[in-house]
Amino acid sequence: MKAIAQDEGSFREAARALLAQGVRPESVAWQDGPQLSLALDGPPPSASPPGASGVVRVPKAFAALLEKMVCHRDPTRWDLLYRVLYRLAHGERDLLQQPLDPDVRRLELMQKAIARDVRHVHAFVRFRLVGEAYLAWHRPEHRVLRLAAPFFATRFPGMKWSIVTPDESSHSDGNTLRYGEGAPRPEGEDAFEDLWRTYYSSIFNPSRLNLPLLAQKLPMHHRDTLPEARLIPLLARNAGRRVDRMLRPEAGAAAPFLPRDRSLASLAEAARGCTACPLCEPATQTVFGEGPGTAKLVLVGEQPGDQEDRGGRPFIGPAGDVLDDALKKAGIVRGEIYLTNAVKHFKFEPRGKLRLHQRPSARDVAACRPWVEAELLTLQPRAVVALGATAGQALLGPGFKLGPFRGKPQEGTLVPVIIPTWHPAAILRAGLAAQAQQMREELIADLRTALARSRAA
Ligand code: SF4
Repeated sequence: MKAIAQDEGSFREAARALLAQGVRPESVAWQDGPQLSLALDGPPPSASPPGASGVVRVPKAFAALLEKMVCHRDPTRWDLLYRVLYRLAHGERDLLQQPLDPDVRRLELMQKAIARDVRHVHAFVRFRLVGEAYLAWHRPEHRVLRLAAPFFATRFPGMKWSIVTPDESSHSDGNTLRYGEGAPRPEGEDAFEDLWRTYYSSIFNPSRLNLPLLAQKLPMHHRDTLPEARLIPLLARNAGRRVDRMLRPEAGAAAPFLPRDRSLASLAEAARGCTACPLCEPATQTVFGEGPGTAKLVLVGEQPGDQEDRGGRPFIGPAGDVLDDALKKAGIVRGEIYLTNAVKHFKFEPRGKLRLHQRPSARDVAACRPWVEAELLTLQPRAVVALGATAGQALLGPGFKLGPFRGKPQEGTLVPVIIPTWHPAAILRAGLAAQAQQMREELIADLRTALARSRAA
């Protein structure tokens, strides 16, 4: 006996008729039909129907999987489905709860393949604007368009789009989703594909390149429909060089991220998107400077610490408490000065749940310098305090050492005077209480000097 089915409806119809006649699975040869039609031939079987009434009840779970299974291209899926249906109807009601059963296992694998293909449609469809509508051509592995298309209708409400596959097409006018015939891939490419490639190159992160994973996630048969796929060999070839550049950022690397408008608010906003060096990757956020635009005294530290990284503000951790105390004793109101760091992202080494502070390298400082320079150029302060050697190197050059210059006002290129002093964190790290106390007093004295210089006409 031969049965032909193409979709869920025709399978249901044929299967119902076969079951009603008690036809055993091995007596039926199922075929994919060219049309939405059912064809039964051969002599009717003599076996008895499953129930006295001839009515077959199937679990809801079977109806749900049928919807997905009909999308699979394996022509033997109809045999499998009918065999499972027959077994369900003949006393094996809990068959679908038997994961080790070979038929159930096969169903499971085929359903997974369908689910993966739907995800690929969502991930790999590339729309291009043609007139007023967005068009995409895609070649799914299975006939999954009807399972995948509703996602786009939800994602792009009110938008006109069409997705065409070799089997069928789906179209949205912004309100209604409908389906039509499929079509072969159109010839040629357009500016949209160039744009997409430019976008992909710019977001490509060479340090995360994992070719085996990429091969797994970007199956071969989708590559000729993805504009960016052609870039991958080239980007992969250059990945080593680009990673090297990322790990060893160039001096002034942050400069391209600076906005045209140099107000403090614009600078802070732009710095949030800075990815000029690898420090931005593990850090939580950019910690930009804070304080009034009228500040005549600026304090520059090294980099945000753990708490600053989480809180998004400079000097709010334990070192911030030391600084606040010193400011108070020096007669400085925190809200009247500007506080910032030489490096705007937290550099650390993960150790279990801890994030251990790592001193920024000279390259880190040089990469980030455009931000602190822009802050100083905008503020035009009368005096700057460099808290620690890293801040000193950022403002006075890479050869700067704190020891010989602490407390001695230095002439700056961007500001009239720079006063180097201890970083509050160094005071916290001081081994002896007496040493910490001396450093604290020196910090307060240096802050007083800076305050006086900031008030000088
Ligand atoms: S540390 Fe500075 S240069 Fe590096 S990403 Fe952060 S803001 Fe940009």
